[in-house]
Amino acid sequence: MAYIPETMFGIETGPNETIPRVMISPARYVQGDGVLDHLGRYLELVPGKNVAILISENGQKRFGERINASLKNAKVRFVIGQFGGECSIEEVTKHEKAFGSSNELDCLIAVGGGKCIDTGKYIADRLRIPVVIVPTLASNDAPCSALSIMYSPEGVMSGVEFFKQSPALVLVDTRIVANSPERYLVAGMGDALATWYEAHACGTNITGKSCVGARPTLAAGAIAEVCAATLFADGEAAASAVRKSEVNDVLERVVEANTLLSGIGFESGGLACAHSIAQGLTLIPSVHSDSLHGEMVAIGLLTQLLLEKRQDDGQKVARFMALVGLPVELKQISFDASNREHVNQVIDFAMNFPFLQNEPFPVTREALLRAS
Ligand SMILES: [Zn+2]
Repeated sequence: MAYIPETMFGIETGPNETIPRVMISPARYVQGDGVLDHLGRYLELVPGKNVAILISENGQKRFGERINASLKNAKVRFVIGQFGGECSIEEVTKHEKAFGSSNELDCLIAVGGGKCIDTGKYIADRLRIPVVIVPTLASNDAPCSALSIMYSPEGVMSGVEFFKQSPALVLVDTRIVANSPERYLVAGMGDALATWYEAHACGTNITGKSCVGARPTLAAGAIAEVCAATLFADGEAAASAVRKSEVNDVLERVVEANTLLSGIGFESGGLACAHSIAQGLTLIPSVHSDSLHGEMVAIGLLTQLLLEKRQDDGQKVARFMALVGLPVELKQISFDASNREHVNQVIDFAMNFPFLQNEPFPVTREALLRAS
């Protein structure tokens, strides 16, 4: 049966019938230049001696040799499953069957972007083994969370799946991020920047609930706040480091913001308007095919700040976004604002998205329309 964290954490308790504060996070987070070459050693912590690897064909070409060498060196046996590109139930079931026939797997390692990672979490859950996440991009906040965004095989969002276990280990090789296109790091900043504004909305609303259905902790809010401050301070310099394929301390800070701070911040701090709009935008084929998740979240964040009538913050955020190359206008994500049918589709989706009501005031359709 599907696990719904709200049925675990979101139940009123005690004489005042309050909702408990809950924070979850990966058990371990390791980030640094070249850490992929030590994957085998880090697996001792999980522990993993007989592992399954989920990786795309392209990922295998880029990182296969390094992974093989590290695992062989640490005497870790492994089987490989090729990720097909979409985080769908069909993809999960296919690998569950294939890996299920291997004897005594003790963990699953997902190496890749957000969708490969999310698929890996789900397969590991089905196989009842720990999951190790090796993100090859810093473009989203999927690596640290215990949930997967599910899509149809055609790529339209179909729901969210929650898991009882958070990743046992998240391993981020900053050199890989530095050698990837700048656009991915920048998209990750869009996703990460929204974290603070969404956690703030959720924390301010006394009935707001985080992604685990509980009240957010102060810790998650503080993490989200540091996440935004780090991006404002270092975002532009980090993008320039990636342009030069350079690993430096500024890039390390922004990769941590995009991955760890944003991941804990959104899961335990809560989502709000920005992600409601972003997920609605995946319904529009031109946006879905041309834009990355973080770019849609960037547009969602500007909508949220307009909705909340926070003009100063809206200007500060828009200035930052333009500076690092995030979209600030709908046409930059291939959305035609004159297409009323498309506008209505996104607004309808957002209105029904459960996290929209984490905004600290009731959101009406008209107010959301005005803000978009
Ligand atoms: Zn996100």
